[in-house]
Amino acid sequence: MEYRPTIGLEIHVELNTKTKMFCGCKNEPDENHPNTNICPVCMGHPGTLPNINFEALKKIVLAGLALNCEIAENTFFERKNYFYPDLPKGYQISQFQSPTCANGFLEIFGKRIRIRRIHLEEDAGKLMHDQNECHSLVDYNRAGVPLMELVTEPDLNSGDEVKEFGEQLQLILRYLGVSDANMEKGQMRVEANISVSQTEELGTKVEVKNINSLRFARQAIDYEVKRQTEVLESGQKVSHETRGWDEKKQATFLMRSKEESHDYRYFPEPDLPPIKTNDSEINLDKIRASIPELPSQKTNRFRDQYGLPDSDIRVLVFNRELGGYFEEIISELKTWENIGYLTNPGPEQLPKLIKLCANYRITELQKIMTLQKNNLSEIGNIKISPKNFADFIVRIFNKEISSSGAQTLLKQMFETGDEPKNIIEQKGLSQISNTEELIADIRRVIAENKKSVDDYKNGKQSALQFLVGKAMAKTKGRANPQIAKQLLEQEMNI
Ligand code: ADP
Ligand code: ZN
Ligand code: MG
Repeated sequence: MEYRPTIGLEIHVELNTKTKMFCGCKNEPDENHPNTNICPVCMGHPGTLPNINFEALKKIVLAGLALNCEIAENTFFERKNYFYPDLPKGYQISQFQSPTCANGFLEIFGKRIRIRRIHLEEDAGKLMHDQNECHSLVDYNRAGVPLMELVTEPDLNSGDEVKEFGEQLQLILRYLGVSDANMEKGQMRVEANISVSQTEELGTKVEVKNINSLRFARQAIDYEVKRQTEVLESGQKVSHETRGWDEKKQATFLMRSKEESHDYRYFPEPDLPPIKTNDSEINLDKIRASIPELPSQKTNRFRDQYGLPDSDIRVLVFNRELGGYFEEIISELKTWENIGYLTNPGPEQLPKLIKLCANYRITELQKIMTLQKNNLSEIGNIKISPKNFADFIVRIFNKEISSSGAQTLLKQMFETGDEPKNIIEQKGLSQISNTEELIADIRRVIAENKKSVDDYKNGKQSALQFLVGKAMAKTKGRANPQIAKQLLEQEMNI
């Protein structure tokens, strides 16, 4: 029997509200002067009182609805008591018994991953151990920042699935505008619970922390699955512990054995009133109506509407800007009567134009910008207007420019933002399809390549291709290759 991996995730995400969760301090993740966004409330001074930030509550409800959760009608905050130097109050205000959102799901690779709960709490400060040799420092700018914690059921079964879940979640949160969910910046933090088992019953889980990217999450899980399998194979037991991910060693390491379970002594926060989620402050219908088109819906629409391959759709959905830009170009293309003309018009041409457009927009521009796949969002920000891009596509489609001419043109458009028409004129890029213009060069090619002409006459087809190449070279790539070919055949068969 194989060892089947099981993974459940606990994911923390900082919400991008203007102010902190329970005070008026600014929520500025990029503030790099330590301890500037602090006040007596988030510093836990005696006698101060917290105040609920309803913007944070709306954002978590929005996320919950987009993730198919039920929203609790009544919820309240609790104190989770523990001491740590990054937690000035000595307790964290959190939700334990009544998470705002519960029983949702997110579909990845056509599989439903159940979301057990999403609750709201406050972040702690940041401890810095590497600033000074003899003591650690604390920056409390982050203390009290709204944090959502999402817990999945143990429904994931591989590192790949976890990476996909994380990426889809990140994308949804960005579409919703509730967080940038940038893992390098600590705005999204993933903890993975991992076990392996040969039976229906789940094995003992190990919790892996310190994961700074989704790629590391996948690596950590793959490593841990292998390690646990080896432990069991050798007849030992997996111990219930917390491990970290060491990126340099590409291995997990023991952080602490989790034998003793914490007693957080949760009790209702006496300084905050209970919350009704459907009152004047938070209107569920209004929030539901404000959910934008989500990545999965956009994926389906792009498939139905544009018939693009899944790999292109993924790029356009993951890069929202790029997707938006692409759609602007398409709408320009639909009104092509206004921007130019098609040599053979008709509605059946649109899919071909769309395909060309995706290809140039994604692949060719990527080459020009020498971008990595994960850097593609930059393509959305370039200075070629959708109208000029559509014009460019129509000209390729009409064979006014050759494919090598198109490369040059696109590069120029990228650098100058100029209209295709001007660049084509300046650079002499227009393709020559006019037989009268081409015939002299064709005759010259025939005169200069006697051997190939003989080969062709003796039935060697590859000789014709060679001569087309010569004709292209003679016209500096501007000859329409089909026309050049026709003319060559015509002239040699005289
Ligand atoms: P605990 O009480 O130890 O915190 P929970 O039941 O609250 O455990 O689950 C915490 C997380 O661990 C959840 O994401 C859950 O899906 C996951 N999990 C629970 N049991 C297992 C297991 N045997 N293997 C992998 N993940 C698990
Ligand atoms: Zn404050
Ligand atoms: Mg738990």
